[in-house]
Amino acid sequence: MISQSSATFVRSLISKYYADAKDLSPKEMARREFGFGDFERKISFRHFTFSTWPRLREYLVANAPPFISISTAYYDRPDGRPMEAKGWRGAELIFDLDASDLKLKCASEHGRSWVCNDCLSAVKAETTKLVEEFLIPDFGFSEGSISINFSGNRGYHVHVNDPETFKMGSAERTAIADYIKATGIDLRFFFPNMGVRGKRLDGPKPTDSGWGGKLARGVIGALNSGEDALVAMGMEPKTARLLYRKRADVIIGITTGNWDKVNVPKKAEFWAGALAAISVKNSDSIDRNVSTDIHHLIRLPDTIHGDTGLLAKNVGGLGGLERFEPMRDAVVLKGDPITVEIAKSPVLEILGERFGPYDKSVQELPLHAAIYLMLKRVADMR
Ligand SMILES: [Zn+2]
Repeated sequence: MISQSSATFVRSLISKYYADAKDLSPKEMARREFGFGDFERKISFRHFTFSTWPRLREYLVANAPPFISISTAYYDRPDGRPMEAKGWRGAELIFDLDASDLKLKCASEHGRSWVCNDCLSAVKAETTKLVEEFLIPDFGFSEGSISINFSGNRGYHVHVNDPETFKMGSAERTAIADYIKATGIDLRFFFPNMGVRGKRLDGPKPTDSGWGGKLARGVIGALNSGEDALVAMGMEPKTARLLYRKRADVIIGITTGNWDKVNVPKKAEFWAGALAAISVKNSDSIDRNVSTDIHHLIRLPDTIHGDTGLLAKNVGGLGGLERFEPMRDAVVLKGDPITVEIAKSPVLEILGERFGPYDKSVQELPLHAAIYLMLKRVADMR
């Protein structure tokens, strides 16, 4: 729980931020449902609608909500209830990637609710992979239809605004998610004579489209990176060493579709590992948002995240994502230092400075760092 004094203080900063903010209207604002959260729940109120930026701003300044969300769907009557009364017209395709789904090693040290630089780089790499290796080449979405937002905390939201997918229902969205997660891939499709004695193992070439090409390029990439990459794909260390030693031959083979030299004893483990390494790893959150909920509410881009005080910043496309550093570029609540009482906190790196770790400590901190710790529920106003 956040204390009353911390909550009141942060809300006053949020209100001031929106009073001076640029126009934050989303596309087709009048057809979107708005939802707002408090410090306890990300969505406490929903079914709101706003037709103009001045009206939305007036609400934000008066109420200073710590979380602001909009529907990915467009409706005839966004404030209609129950949901069926809204008149659903379609929805953006959304992918929500969260570092806490990546099961990173650092998470066991700092806990799932904390986020460190390793978490942020890993989730950025997964987001790049999703766009660069799946959405653009395999689904043919144009770069211009893809818009990427920092979530404001531990991940990224990828919005696809494409007329072809706009009307898709849950089942079709599930099929897209399954493809990206490599769910239900039958390897015999790519290796037709797998397990047939006396026959050369034919398989996909790196130039093939879809999953075949991905598998070929993925295995070649692992062979070039070293034994560890092969072991990470589920290969036994002994086999990995052997294969790595004769990699030049193996790679030439795969390039021509001849997989005979990739003779691994524990086939099932290896192929399962290879598919997992090449697919996008955030399968939990991809499922939750893409497939099951066409009435989903998602953070309004360029608004403040109430668990960090950072901006859920729109970074544009792939180029913008590459240049974006969350703990530098999403810091917007700045001001005079304040004194806070910190219970226990891992290291915080923000705006190029390191703070902590702390254990029962009173500190005067720059405003942005103090807010971050208060909203992460590890510190309080003194
Ligand atoms: Zn981490």
